[in-house]
Amino acid sequence: MSSEDPSGFVPPPGTDPDRRRPKLSFELLGCAWNGHALVGTDAATVGEQDALVVRSVDAGRRLHRCLRCDAWTMLPTPSEPSRETPEGRDEIVLPDRGRPLKSRYVLRLIALTRAFNVLVLLLVLGGAIAVLVNQVSLRDDLVANATSLQTVFGGQVIGQVQSLLSGGAGPLWLVAIGVFVLLALETAEGVGLWRATRWGEYLTFVMTTLLLVPQAFELTSSTSPGTIIGMVVNLAVVLYLLISKRLFGLRGGAPAISAEREHDISWAALARHLPGCSDVRGGASA
Ligand SMILES: [Zn+2]
Repeated sequence: MSSEDPSGFVPPPGTDPDRRRPKLSFELLGCAWNGHALVGTDAATVGEQDALVVRSVDAGRRLHRCLRCDAWTMLPTPSEPSRETPEGRDEIVLPDRGRPLKSRYVLRLIALTRAFNVLVLLLVLGGAIAVLVNQVSLRDDLVANATSLQTVFGGQVIGQVQSLLSGGAGPLWLVAIGVFVLLALETAEGVGLWRATRWGEYLTFVMTTLLLVPQAFELTSSTSPGTIIGMVVNLAVVLYLLISKRLFGLRGGAPAISAEREHDISWAALARHLPGCSDVRGGASA
């Protein structure tokens, strides 16, 4: 988040006067996608106790403060209000903002890479099942075209495929079951990360760390850009989960994550983004 001045005021997203280089405000991205999170747009009256989130300008206009990005938006007073006063604080679910929101975007980015893996594994599984169903005819075709295929794919690859197809359905079933298990794990990872669950973070850590072992071996025989990029990305994911998501109790663990959440997503946090309002008692009451 932005730097705090001695009064406790923190500039809202996108308004930091010290902003010298482009910086992504995830709150603004969230509002671009979901719209502003406003309070009291359907209330007949607003009072002093609501000043932190909605203020009356005159009989026909009100200023509403977005609970996510802190922008104030002027709207007409509702002509047909559905409630007398704005929602109380215990009725309002504050939207993600600050570090928890940023982390949510990072986790969803990792979840998208898992979705890509799931698509690739589905193709592999489909291929394995197709080979299982047509094993005999494929083996005959392979034998008939062995010479020409060897010139394209190399003798070693074709030899391995030939022995796999000749070895009965057992090895192929093992491949298909292995791919299916991997598919289920990658899907669980993606869902867990998308929903920002702790088990999703741990599962991703374990799976990605296990994947680093064969990648490290592969690196000893091949230094192709794909191998290096894949390994760097996986290393970054593992380090991000360990350091930023504080897995295994690192840097304070889950209690520190909760404290971070309370610091950035709370009524006190909303008060810190209003000049002269660092004390939450100056705002609305429940
Ligand atoms: Zn907003």
